[in-house]
Amino acid sequence: MLKKIDRADNFLALHSVFNCPLCHKNLNAVGRSLACENRHRFDLSKKGTLYFLKKEIKSEYDHEMFEARRELILAGLYEPLLNELRSHCKDKFVLDVGCGEGTMLSLVGLGVGFDISKDGVMMASDYVSDGLEFVVADLTNLPFRDNSVDVILNIFSPSHYDEFARVLKPGGKLIKVIPNSDYLLELRLALYGEANYSNEDVKIRLAEKVNILEEKAVRYVFDLPVALRAKLVKMTPLEWGADEAAKLKLAGNPLEKITVDVTMFVCEL
Ligand SMILES: [Zn+2]
Repeated sequence: MLKKIDRADNFLALHSVFNCPLCHKNLNAVGRSLACENRHRFDLSKKGTLYFLKKEIKSEYDHEMFEARRELILAGLYEPLLNELRSHCKDKFVLDVGCGEGTMLSLVGLGVGFDISKDGVMMASDYVSDGLEFVVADLTNLPFRDNSVDVILNIFSPSHYDEFARVLKPGGKLIKVIPNSDYLLELRLALYGEANYSNEDVKIRLAEKVNILEEKAVRYVFDLPVALRAKLVKMTPLEWGADEAAKLKLAGNPLEKITVDVTMFVCEL
């Protein structure tokens, strides 16, 4: 079996999708680094990841949150959604925008995941293998060449449609997943006593920016495994704004079921 760093080297040799976020020239593999003709250089980390940010962007998503997410994803929380995504990612080169700890990408396809969170990408490096790579980068200045990816996955994370249009190949697709009003309904009710989330603004902006080819709602109730019930509240930012009494009450009586209610949009740019 290849060690992590060897697998990542292999990836760099096999795939030429990166460009320089500083001067936008192509990056090419030089030893354990990527370099452009203007001698900007990005070194592969020991864990096999690449770091493209000029200065660190503070992310509120921490290790504990990514760990909870990973455990719930591996336990099947998003399985019906992942099945939808798999059908669009099969045999494609995928870019997962806002990949977090990388678990979703590892379960649906092959390609590159990026996130602004160093913690997330460090964890994602567990999945570095032939054809999978994870990088820390800026959404507004993607370190990828023009026309270089087949599918962009954009799951519960911000978008930059101009950059998406630039890096997608002709005929490539953006797959955007957004929460609907009942997403994590039981958790919202437990923490806030009400659930009044609306995704209308996101939908309006999406329709202005892209051509929507397909719109599919995916809704189901997931039975939370006993061992993971306390993790649910850790995996989202929802608890940050909740009051202590509600959090304590929930901790004493964790949810047994949770609603997943999302819409998947398949788009052209
Ligand atoms: Zn450069």
